[in-house]
Amino acid sequence: MSTRPFNFSAGPATLPAEVLAQAASEMLDWRGSGMSVMEMSHRGAEYTEIHQTALADLRELLALPDNYRILFTQGGALAENALVPLNLLRGHPRADYLVSGSWSAKSFKEASRYCEAHLVASGEADGFKRLPPRDSWQLSKDAAYVHICTNETVNGLEFFDAPDVGDVPLVADVSSHFLSRPMDVSRYGVLYGGAQKNVGMAGLTVLVVREDLLERALPVCPSAFEWRLIEQNDSMYNTPPTYAIYIAGLVFQWLKRQGGLPAIEQRNRAKAELLYGALDDSEFYYNDVDPAARSRMNVPFRLRDESLNEAFLKGAKERGLLQLKGHKSVGGMRASIYNAMPLAGVQALVEYLQAFAQRHG
Ligand SMILES: *Cc1c(COP(=O)(O)O)cnc(C)c1O
Repeated sequence: MSTRPFNFSAGPATLPAEVLAQAASEMLDWRGSGMSVMEMSHRGAEYTEIHQTALADLRELLALPDNYRILFTQGGALAENALVPLNLLRGHPRADYLVSGSWSAKSFKEASRYCEAHLVASGEADGFKRLPPRDSWQLSKDAAYVHICTNETVNGLEFFDAPDVGDVPLVADVSSHFLSRPMDVSRYGVLYGGAQKNVGMAGLTVLVVREDLLERALPVCPSAFEWRLIEQNDSMYNTPPTYAIYIAGLVFQWLKRQGGLPAIEQRNRAKAELLYGALDDSEFYYNDVDPAARSRMNVPFRLRDESLNEAFLKGAKERGLLQLKGHKSVGGMRASIYNAMPLAGVQALVEYLQAFAQRHG
């Protein structure tokens, strides 16, 4: 397993090798049941245990207050761009959106199909290199919620503190940094994200919803995506993505073995410091995001001489450093260093950055 390459994909992304090995060993016969998890009835005793354990482990990892509910659903974060307004707009025609990068821009655009989406501030004029400062936000008076993306996967910006928006529920797309560190969930009304970045495999969407916000759906909200119905049915209103929940459950147990979120945060901090430090020390590469907002999970960077991009990626692949190409909308490079990326992977990347610069500088 130590010979596996290091995969820096932004998502679907690398998973802990231990988790993959465990899933492989249980593939044909889950713990003497004679069934693969994929083949189990979602109502049966075996799957029920997997499902309930995953919910309980996630609650424990997050140290979730009693008045928050975890929902396992589908459709990814992009579906939530529509489902957030459909679940929260009762009695309020308007919702507030901060645009801090390409993912929150998508959320804002989709929401305007369902409500009066109000732009509180945008970082676009700054090229999404910094988070619009809180004192520049123009909040509306009667918004159903304020939506932010707490980690912009493409642009590489992260919120490290929940912004103060008063009594209005704060809704956050946490897709690409969920479980990378402890979060004060009580500052938020809703957290949501697709699992394929830091939690598991594609096909599962995880939501954390404050209980009182489960009562605000519009009548047109599709039943299968109505948070109240999902919650009342323990995330089994209809067939859940059973295998994806099983994999997420293995990741939750792996996280607990690592020492939980405070311990994983220390590791993530060390990885990010190592990589940003190497970029900042070099004249060959750069990352120009405001240091105060640099994401610990997604590190976009560029070569000053972009004619070397292809050679850089080819050499990286030969060394077992995979999927470093930046998002097509911004170009350049991007190293995603989620929980499952070991420090050794970042060390190998830093060594390669230096060797390549030496050869071509
Ligand atoms: C990947 C990503 C999305 C899109 O998620 P899907 O599961 O493909 O719908 C949305 N927001 C953020 C922050 C992401 O990283």
